[in-house]
Amino acid sequence: MLVVFLGPPGSGKGTQAARLATKYGLPQISTGDMLREAVSAGSELGDRVKAIMAAGDLVPDEVMLESVEERLGKPDCAGGAVLDGYPRTRGQAETLDPLTRRLGLGEVSLVLMLDVPEDEVFRRISGRRQEAVGEGERADDKDDVVIERMRVYRELTEPLVEYYRSTGALEEIDGVGTVDEVFDRLDGAMRETVQG
Ligand code: ADP
Repeated sequence: MLVVFLGPPGSGKGTQAARLATKYGLPQISTGDMLREAVSAGSELGDRVKAIMAAGDLVPDEVMLESVEERLGKPDCAGGAVLDGYPRTRGQAETLDPLTRRLGLGEVSLVLMLDVPEDEVFRRISGRRQEAVGEGERADDKDDVVIERMRVYRELTEPLVEYYRSTGALEEIDGVGTVDEVFDRLDGAMRETVQG
């Protein structure tokens, strides 16, 4: 089955997607991680996306589609996947269904939208930055870049909430609480979908 995580930067998507993927034996496809790996490997893709990511902007849809298509075509995705960070624009959402149908994966069955208020998101990201000082600090966790990532989220990604509400796949989950509390809410929605 195909599960999509939606949520603002700092909403805990990555952490929760990893847990859910492990519990259900599905691969987690994090486009942010894929791109960061490409940047550290210095690949052609990495060179193309480095400056865009550092500015907090989005990599063009056609570049993303190519990477996601390649990833979803791998054998470990035959039973589905947990998509973390994709789709992030209306264009990405509109090309995802034809792609997954073509790959024999069906359609997105569940979209988990993690709701976290903006002030909480800023607090979390500054906390993450302080912990990471020196080692592994994300270049895009600087204040002005976080503001840009939030703007991009509101403008381009948030409209996907309505898009997936209309397909019937959307579940809005309260993302405030401990990691365990939030996970239990997500897992509840997942169980309902699995049981149909
Ligand atoms: P965030 O914490 O902001 O959700 P991610 O790790 O998901 O961070 O993504 C980091 C960056 O990678 C984004 O700011 C963007 O530049 C790029 N990126 C990740 N996924 C996508 C996507 N689906 N489309 C375009 N750009 C993406």
